[in-house]
Amino acid sequence: MSQKETRLDIVRAQYALYKERPMDLTIARGIPSKKQLKLSEGLVNDVKIDDWLSEDEIDIRNYGGLYGIKEARELFGSLLNTTVEETFVGGNSSLQLMFAVLSHHMYTKEKAWNKDKDKPIKFICPSPGYDRHWFMLEHLGIEMIPVELTGNGPDMEVVEKLVSQDASIKGMFVVPKYNNPTGESVSDDVVDRLATMHTAAEDFVILWDNAYVVHHLRDEKVEVKDIFAASKTAGNPDRVIQFVSTSKMTLPGAGVAAMGASVDNLQEMASHFGKQLISFDKINQKRHVAFLKDRETIEAHMEKHAEILAPKFDWIEAILSAYFHGDRESFVTWTSPKGGYFVHLTTDEGCASKIVEKMTAIGISLTPANAAYPYGINPLNNSIRLAPSFATLDHLEIAMEALCVCIELVTLEKYES
Ligand code: PLP
Repeated sequence: MSQKETRLDIVRAQYALYKERPMDLTIARGIPSKKQLKLSEGLVNDVKIDDWLSEDEIDIRNYGGLYGIKEARELFGSLLNTTVEETFVGGNSSLQLMFAVLSHHMYTKEKAWNKDKDKPIKFICPSPGYDRHWFMLEHLGIEMIPVELTGNGPDMEVVEKLVSQDASIKGMFVVPKYNNPTGESVSDDVVDRLATMHTAAEDFVILWDNAYVVHHLRDEKVEVKDIFAASKTAGNPDRVIQFVSTSKMTLPGAGVAAMGASVDNLQEMASHFGKQLISFDKINQKRHVAFLKDRETIEAHMEKHAEILAPKFDWIEAILSAYFHGDRESFVTWTSPKGGYFVHLTTDEGCASKIVEKMTAIGISLTPANAAYPYGINPLNNSIRLAPSFATLDHLEIAMEALCVCIELVTLEKYES
């Protein structure tokens, strides 16, 4: 008589079927779907510019206006809670602005961080966070110190202790709303503590990456306290540099990005940019103002994105909760974000990289396991990011069902050995 089939046998057999018919799917990166891109075709096809002068009388076809045109600075200021003077509008990428801020502080500022080449320069990295922030820091030779996120932003006990004692810690990244990948937003208390904390480094800077400022998925819209105002009140007006872009409002390949900071900080950055270019694409800035108009119109536009995106997040929630209950409940936990682009999975310790490998082997690509940690190092090996925006609902369903099988298989195999 044959031995009784175990659950592991069943799951192995299911996985073997996937292996026989590999797929070609990706839920690896937070890219808007074609349906979402369609929402902004009017930006290119419908907007007609008949006045080539900006409100501050710059001919948008010509050189000039490095800070951006006035109406664009006003529009982005409405997202950043900054005045026109405190708003700098650049090209299509907020990452490029962040990189410029970091490289200027590191190498070209009068008191550049790495003036003394033998001393390390360090940054606090709330984790799990955005892998491209970590790539940037690594590329610039800045040492990364991971600090755990709590569900309301970084663990402030740890942050305060570190920054008050070590003058080589020059700054930190924060994604304040709907963090990539955990979906969490920072609480008022965290905002206040970041704005007021004592830092051993006088030139400590917070890169406040508000990439998901209006990217709600649900009726409940999270609002984060204004850190720029809080830092001014605390006597630290130069501490915070805010970033935002239209990458996930209009077209990531042809959007507009902006920076909000003190007038002094912006002057410093304008002088740095002035060595690289004469001005950014002001026609695209004007087009964006014509298309997005004001904060209210932006919010209405973002609701159309939410209509497309929310069902994908609902699917993930439904599939994971149907699969992982009872005996399997402890195999994985997941976030249920109110906004942003990601779901974060916490697997059993030691399992994340194997799960991603198993998915790759059947033709479904995920972000590399633990990529949300600096240097990709997470001693618990339990972090996986899901980026469902690009996939169709059908494909997402297939990918999620396969993912459930892979999670169960790897977890059962861990306990078998
Ligand atoms: N910041 C965060 C937190 C992101 O998740 C992303 C894209 O996924 C970006 C920035 C990219 O911004 P941009 O397209 O403006 O360079």
